Amino acid sequence: MSTRKPGSKELPIGAVVTKSSMEYETGDWGVEKPQIDLEKCTQCTLCHYFCPEGAITVNDDGYPEVQNNYCKGCGICAEECPVKCIEMVRMK
Ligand code: SF4
Ligand code: SF4
Repeated sequence: MSTRKPGSKELPIGAVVTKSSMEYETGDWGVEKPQIDLEKCTQCTLCHYFCPEGAITVNDDGYPEVQNNYCKGCGICAEECPVKCIEMVRMK
């Protein structure tokens, strides 16, 4: 008897998301929010790419902006910022 586990393409579909996740504002989950010191920010945009929630956008001037309605306060952006200009601040 084979003990091979099925690959991802063989698994049945578990769920289908039919709405945009933009409708689900999950930002009130977190107790901390990132505060960015724009004077030190080098506009590298790594925080934008590392945020698992897509909660950091980049404005027309090239600076990151945290969308608090979607930020869950995980702190990954602060951890990954190469110049450490993001501080997690307790909000609750
Ligand atoms: S704290 Fe987490 S969810 Fe919030 S902006 Fe940073 S990486 Fe994204
Ligand atoms: S990772 Fe840090 S330096 Fe880079 S854009 Fe974000 S806040 Fe600015």
